[in-house]
Amino acid sequence: MFLGGLLAVADGSWPLWATISIAVLAVLVIAGVLVRLLGATVRSLSLRNESERVKSEVALARAEARFRTVFEGAPLGIVVVDVDGTLRETNAAFDVMLGYERRELVGKTMKDLSDESDRERTLEAFGALVRGEVSSYEHEMRYKRKNGSTLWADVSVTYVPEDDEPFAIAVIDDVSDRIVIRDRLIHEATHDALTSLPNRGLFSAQLGDALRSRLPGLAVAFVDLDHFKVVNDSLGHLAGDALLRAVAQRLRSIMRPGEMVARLGGDEFGVIFLDEDIEARVEWLHATVAEPANIEGRRLYTTASVGVAVAHARYERAEDLLRDADIALYRSKADGRATYTIFNEVMHESAVRRLQISSDVRDAINEPDQFRVAFQPLVRLTDWKTVGYEALVRWQHPREGMIQPDLFIPAAEETGVIVRLGREVLIRSLERLAQEQRDDPTLTMHVNVSVQEIMHGDLPEHVFAAIKATGVRPETVTLEITENAIIDTSTGAGAVLERLRAGGVKICVDDFGIGYSSLRYLSLFPINSLKIDRSFVSGTGSGIASEPICRMLLDLARSLDLTVVAEGIETTEQAERLCGLGATTGQGYIFSRPIIPERGGPLILPPNLLAGRPMQISA
Ligand code: C2E
Ligand code: CA
Ligand code: CA
Repeated sequence: MFLGGLLAVADGSWPLWATISIAVLAVLVIAGVLVRLLGATVRSLSLRNESERVKSEVALARAEARFRTVFEGAPLGIVVVDVDGTLRETNAAFDVMLGYERRELVGKTMKDLSDESDRERTLEAFGALVRGEVSSYEHEMRYKRKNGSTLWADVSVTYVPEDDEPFAIAVIDDVSDRIVIRDRLIHEATHDALTSLPNRGLFSAQLGDALRSRLPGLAVAFVDLDHFKVVNDSLGHLAGDALLRAVAQRLRSIMRPGEMVARLGGDEFGVIFLDEDIEARVEWLHATVAEPANIEGRRLYTTASVGVAVAHARYERAEDLLRDADIALYRSKADGRATYTIFNEVMHESAVRRLQISSDVRDAINEPDQFRVAFQPLVRLTDWKTVGYEALVRWQHPREGMIQPDLFIPAAEETGVIVRLGREVLIRSLERLAQEQRDDPTLTMHVNVSVQEIMHGDLPEHVFAAIKATGVRPETVTLEITENAIIDTSTGAGAVLERLRAGGVKICVDDFGIGYSSLRYLSLFPINSLKIDRSFVSGTGSGIASEPICRMLLDLARSLDLTVVAEGIETTEQAERLCGLGATTGQGYIFSRPIIPERGGPLILPPNLLAGRPMQISA
């Protein structure tokens, strides 16, 4: 429909050429009639008067000359064709259009001149005309020029049934320019300007076709670049664009006939595969994207998370296939990125389970006892001393047991339940903080806040009320907010954060590096610290997953006077490297997992944290 609409727009010029052709045809017909009328008149008069006969002959010659002039000088190509399709006469415009001398054209057939792909259609239409089934026809077709190039033309052909020698007149309008514009419009509407890859619309259409035709080996993959925004942030948008183009080029290079790679938006690409050995292809794709790229004289390493769904009889709609590829992509990201996942039924079940949990969470909020708050220590990286905690909510589901927040927080956010849940977590964690501060008054508490809580507007009042009720100092309370929540202008986050800051509460940007903002932009907001997302830190054995990125983030943070917390630290090596790079605070399984305290009891910390940094790595 979309394409149809465009074609209609591009075709907007047709009435003009049609008018011209009709006008020229009319001129021709009138000229022909005139010639014949004159001929008849001349014949009848000839008997009467010899001198009149001579006069008439002169008139006839003039009329014929006029007809010639119209025929020759017409701006459209005009051809007189025999019923067997042989060209009998052509005019100058037609000769020029096709680049032939006239003598070369006369005697050729319509078939010789038309482009191969339009030949059959042309012969069919001409046949119907000659057999008297129609008196005329019009169509768009391609001719082959003498130099081999293609001429696009609107052609209208009319049959002239003269008794002794019937013939046809074809009027040819060169519309190559219009076709070029139309093709460009179609291309622009269906392709991405930056990479020239097909866009989402074309991708979906192609996938739908492939699914309906039950093409063997059909599979769809979502390819999402890991940490793309960091490239944008650190090297600028031009480098980001160059990287996207380089990735697009590589993906294109591994496509086979009938397959397609499209840019679906941002740093996300979609691939349609037609290959029975999908695993090998996806591995190849994954490796291809991971090859270093030379961008503005630097070697850039990028990885992708990939989710794949293989089509089979159960899939009837493209959306279902896309949904499952998305579930698989989600799994790849949850598994620490830089990996690929092929969708399977188990994932489907867990997606269904997520759905069930989403609906359960709405009821659970009325039973606040089902929720627990776990506390994970934040340590000073130089000596591993505990300096505070992050409050992390858990849900003791009556049937499913303990559920991690990744499973139910998104649902709680969607349904708005998060606002009540957030208040519950806030008050309980500040109560806990007050209790812990009896031993160490400098301890701090980090509490996660969702975008919905910020939008609700009265977040500052609730925070101040909880601070007052528990007696903790506001400077020891930090709210963790994701960067996307902050920069989304619809949340009005700026004003809310100002009020919180004015009351002494601190703000930390959570999951930093995976959103779509830039650090420079964030510097406009009242922020105290950044938490580098754990995907930059962990996930690759002992080293730091993305050391250059961590270094860059730390440099930027330092220049903006922000402290940096590194989360997801799982090895002592990571802890040391991050400390060396300038991160002040760390959080992760190497120090302690989140701890759920007994009701009223103290937080029981692992021995290494009570003693500070373990002796064996103090060197
Ligand atoms: P987050 O704020 O990024 O929290 C850090 C997550 O990383 C926690 O997962 C924590 O258990 C986990 N983690 C800590 N150290 C390590 C490590 O060394 N390795 C690995 N692989 N993981 C580590 P958790 O508790 O499942 O929380 C998940 C997310 O749920 C949180 O991510 C946060 O976005 C959200 N969340 C948790 N509690 C709350 C809450 O009270 N309110 C809101 N709005 N969101 C919450
Ligand atoms: Ca957090
Ligand atoms: Ca985080």
